[in-house]
Amino acid sequence: MDIVVRNFTKKYGAQKAVDNVSFDVKTGEVLGFLGPNGAGKTTTMKAITCFLAPNEGDIQVGGMSIKDNPDEIKRNIGYLPENNPLYNDMPVIDYLYFVASLHRIPKEVIKDKILEMVNLCGLEGEKHKKISELSKGYKQRVGLAQALIHDPKVLVLDEPTAGLDPNQIMEIRDLIRKIGREKTVILSSHILAEVEATCDRILIINKGKIVADGSSGQLRKQAQGREILKVTIEGGDVNTVFKALQELNNTELVDFVSKSDGQFEVQSKPDTSSRRDVFQLCVDKGWYLTELTPTETKLEDVFRELTMN
Ligand code: ATP
Repeated sequence: MDIVVRNFTKKYGAQKAVDNVSFDVKTGEVLGFLGPNGAGKTTTMKAITCFLAPNEGDIQVGGMSIKDNPDEIKRNIGYLPENNPLYNDMPVIDYLYFVASLHRIPKEVIKDKILEMVNLCGLEGEKHKKISELSKGYKQRVGLAQALIHDPKVLVLDEPTAGLDPNQIMEIRDLIRKIGREKTVILSSHILAEVEATCDRILIINKGKIVADGSSGQLRKQAQGREILKVTIEGGDVNTVFKALQELNNTELVDFVSKSDGQFEVQSKPDTSSRRDVFQLCVDKGWYLTELTPTETKLEDVFRELTMN
């Protein structure tokens, strides 16, 4: 089931939490929703899952509008909300039975469905415990199990690995990737490595507006418009070398040079490279160029650049 978001705006009083946002998610795609605190991720997810009405625009899930068909859409969506609200007094197995009944899963298959979820989400050893007795990570697994139990076509996961240990994070990521082959998945996260590892596509939202949309490779390439070289030069006084590199500015290639511990960073102007000039400078001055490494743009850098303002 595809998700189509068109000109979605949500206001809380005078504040526009989400401002005229449009994007699509296709079946079989895992979309990562990234953004700083308060960017509008949860608000958008709540609207897609029909828990919030838009002020403007529309969202369609499988061709149905959230305005006209919220019940039918909810039947097709599995939602793990932020903070994972659960009934703490219930044992895991009873809670899953309760959720399965709410989804009207036929009585004859409920038991099998619950066991399937227990296996899939690694809850075997915990299934008879009260939810209040579970560790945070296991609570998160119960949250995932309730989101998946009715075999939804669309999964919306608000920070699915929050509170998990590194092993559990790996397991949940694998699970999401597996599920994502057949379903449409949107997940939000603050862990950039997670989004990079799990998602086909990344949407960065800042102050209610989309500021980037693409694969992690595409986003990095976009930000890589400027070459940054890590340069180590020996055989010359550090300040003299620094000054000479700064003078390369005049070549219309170099934007700025910084130094720390005798190492320099040389940032080129957009679509230019200063490698040859740095090399030639060392030849001319009789210095030794012992390092000339282009630094790779990390998703963290892209994120910071796009969301700092
Ligand atoms: P986080 O990463 O911190 O979870 P988020 O990107 O999910 O943030 P939202 O929860 O969507 O952000 O919030 C977007 C903005 O809307 C924030 O400024 C928030 O304070 C505001 N907001 C969210 N819910 C409400 C509400 N019920 N009433 C008033 N303002 C709200």
